[in-house]
This record gives sequence, structure tokens and C-alpha cells, in this order.
Amino acid sequence: MSNPPYLWHNGCIKPWAEATCHVSTHALHYGSSVFEGERVYATPTGPAYFRLADHTARLFESAAVYDIEIGYSESEIDAACHELIRANRMRSAYVRPIVFRGAGELGVLAKEGAPVEVAIMALDWGAYLGEAIENGADVCVSSWHRPAPNTIPSWAKAGGNYLSSQLIAAEARRGGYDEGIALGSNGLLSEGAGENLFLVKKGKLLTPPTSAGILAGITRDSVLILAAELGLPVEERDLPREALYSADEIFMTGTAAEITPVRSVDRKQVGNGTPGPITRQLQQAFFGLFDGRTEDRHGWLEYVAPVVPDLERAPADSGAHGRAHKQMEASA
Ligand code: PMP
Repeated sequence: MSNPPYLWHNGCIKPWAEATCHVSTHALHYGSSVFEGERVYATPTGPAYFRLADHTARLFESAAVYDIEIGYSESEIDAACHELIRANRMRSAYVRPIVFRGAGELGVLAKEGAPVEVAIMALDWGAYLGEAIENGADVCVSSWHRPAPNTIPSWAKAGGNYLSSQLIAAEARRGGYDEGIALGSNGLLSEGAGENLFLVKKGKLLTPPTSAGILAGITRDSVLILAAELGLPVEERDLPREALYSADEIFMTGTAAEITPVRSVDRKQVGNGTPGPITRQLQQAFFGLFDGRTEDRHGWLEYVAPVVPDLERAPADSGAHGRAHKQMEASA
């Protein structure tokens, strides 16, 4: 996978290779980063972010948990996300804004000594779990549990949380599965390594509540809204592990995973082993947002404005930005 030419770093569009940081970076030692994962879809009327404002709001909420001062407003981050897609001339992308304590004095609480850095990367990512989006994923229940709610807060999308996800995903891959599902500290269902979890039983959607040690996913929220609009009953409630083995359908949601059906859990087949009708219906409603088949009733799509001549001009106060745009013009 090749990297796109530019990213956004501390206020400027820069060539990808120039956005580096020092080995004393606080986040590298202590996990002090918060980030987002967003998608830009190629719609018939141009590239559009999906629920960008909600992702940016969650980024700020995550930062607030750890007293990380972002140094830009939410609208400035949104504008930077748009600018990056234009700079890279991308039609679709997976976008990764990250805020982290940078290089400075070491020490767990180096609030003064570690300046906050902000970067945004746009990557050319397809379906996260590959062909599972069509055929269904084979998943297992992990022997690793999610951290207890009074240990590491799951609503904050922090870099450190993903040590738990790495253990869960790596164990699953070693066992020949596509993904792992974790139980919470109370032994009840929580979420996948990088996805929220939905079950379908007798026509009703069931999903663990946001208090189940999960990231309160934006795709999860979108599915809850789409399901209500389709007249599908939904219950957010605690679920035991065995609910997986008697579910009619299971699927996982996430920005990267989108809506991925699950065809087996712990080598036990789910339903008839193919994506079920409710999963399909929700996939159609969700993906329909991006090809115009589903009306965007909630203003979830934010179109990236096309490049206008003004944007090609280098701003007076930003050398790197200017350089990047000049290079872009040269290579265009
Ligand atoms: N849980 C975890 C642990 C995740 O990493 C993700 C992906 N961000 C999700 C759930 C789904 O969240 P979202 O739909 O907001 O991407």
C-alpha cells in the first residue's frame, strides 16, 4: 500500500515523509494519544465525509478525558480534514486524525513538558476485514477481556486502549479467525477488537449498552438510527456469551469494518452460515447513503468542496503548506 503524497501536521499540509517525531515523544512511552478513524466515500456528487462533525466531537471528548489541549477548534480540525482530501485529490479515504503529547521532558505527567501535536492522515483503505463484508467473518471469543470501566475509560478513543485490541485481534488471527470478540470485566459481551457488536434474535436487534466497556461507536449509532427508521426493534442490553451461539444473525460495526456480517463464532455456524436478511437490509441502508439509494435525512454526509484556485495559492505564513501545494501543481 503506497502512502498518499500529503498529510496535515501541526497546522500545515506537508509531504508525507516530512511528518516525523522524536523518540522521546510522550505518547510513544505512555500511550498519551487520542485519535479518530473516519471515512470519506466517493458519492455520485463527489467525495463526502461520513459524520465528520461527530468524529471530531468524539476526538475532543477523548482529549478532554486526559486533559490534552488540542490547540485548534473543532471547525479548524474539520477544515483541515477537508483540505487534506483536496490536497491528495482523493475520491475516498480512511482518515486518521491523531492528537498526542509530543517530545519534551519524560515522566508520566509531563503536561508542561510535552507539547501537544496534531496530525491527520488520509489512507487508501478498502474493507477492513476484506471479503468478510460480503461473506461474513469467522470470529472467536477472546480469552482477553476488556479493561474494567474504572481502569481505562472505553469511551475515550485513546492509543493506549488499543493494546487490549491488539491482544484480542492477535489471539484471533493466531487461531485462524478473522476477528476476536471480548467479554467485559463482568463476563458479559462487550465488543470486537475494533468493532461494536450486534445480534439478531427473532427479528430484534440486540447490542451491548455503551456501559459495557465499549467505544460508543458512530457506526453503531448510525445503525441504531437506520434500524429505527426501517421499523426494526432494537434493544441495548447486557448479553451473555451464549447469546452468540443462539443468535439468528450477528454483525459487527465500525468505521473501518462498516457493517461486517459474522458467519461463525468459535467455529459454530451463525444461522445458515451466510449473512442474514436483517444484516443485508442494514448494509443496504448504510451503503445506500453513499450511492444515493438511501436519503441522507440527518445531514451525515459532508461534501469535500472541489479545489478552487484560491486554495492552490500558498498561504503567506506557512512554508510547508506552500511547498506542498507547489509540488502538487508541478506533479498535477
Ligand atoms: N470499538 C472499537 C474498540 C473501535 O476501535 C471502533 C472503531 N473506531 C469501534 C468500536 C467502532 O467505532 P466507530 O463506529 O465510531 O468507528
